[in-house]
Amino acid sequence: LLSIRGLTRRFGDTIALAGLDLDVAPGEFLTLLGGSGSGKSTLLRVIAGFEAADSGTLLFEGREITGVPPHARPLNMMFQSYALFPHLSVGGNVAYGLKRDGMGRAERDRRVDEVLALVGLQGFGKRGVHRLSGGQKQRVALARALVKRPRLLLLDEPLGALDANLRERTGFELRALQRETGAAFIMVTHDQNEALALADRVAVLEHGRLVQDGPPRQVYDRPATRFVAGFLGAAN
Ligand code: ATP
Ligand code: MG
Repeated sequence: LLSIRGLTRRFGDTIALAGLDLDVAPGEFLTLLGGSGSGKSTLLRVIAGFEAADSGTLLFEGREITGVPPHARPLNMMFQSYALFPHLSVGGNVAYGLKRDGMGRAERDRRVDEVLALVGLQGFGKRGVHRLSGGQKQRVALARALVKRPRLLLLDEPLGALDANLRERTGFELRALQRETGAAFIMVTHDQNEALALADRVAVLEHGRLVQDGPPRQVYDRPATRFVAGFLGAAN
């Protein structure tokens, strides 16, 4: 689905991405682990097109997408901060991208209702987002990211703002949603339990490079670097 080769990105003296290679298969749930500053958010932003790479190639279904603007890419991103429009209703937030694409009102309403039901927010369309709980805002952000039916969804710490209880439940719901939609998910998390419980595959970033990549069990049993061992071991 997605094939990344030799991706680099610098900020001044900081090397955020250092020649990163990564392949993502259709319908796969990949979690991205790595310490703070290892380049996880930068990688997602480059894939989504919000940040330009210095060099490297990004192929989506074999097509180079580097020059394609974010809203025209066949993928979507959900931000950790949710980045909802506070002055718009739930429905307005979710429909925003569809409207920009020129979709008609009736079809838009149908798609919004459908995706709100999918995330468990049926009947919330007319509410203002400022009144919602943290968990509900998270679902609105998820609905907005899913409404264009992307083949690939990028999620940067999507559960980070939720309390532990809600976090675990929402994690499994995310996994169920991913199966239902058939989209591939790349999810950044700091939570090793989450990565191991939810993922088909775990990729570990260190200093802007992929240092390990495999099924959760394998990464857990045979960590490739001291960093990975320490990171996964901290849960036990
Ligand atoms: P965290 O887990 O803390 O979110 P991360 O793995 O997402 O970390 P990135 O945000 O990708 O890390 O940052 C990678 C490196 O690039 C860091 O050293 C960061 O300070 C630097 N960086 C990222 N964005 C910028 C920017 N816009 N300007 C300058 N430096 C940046
Ligand atoms: Mg980050």
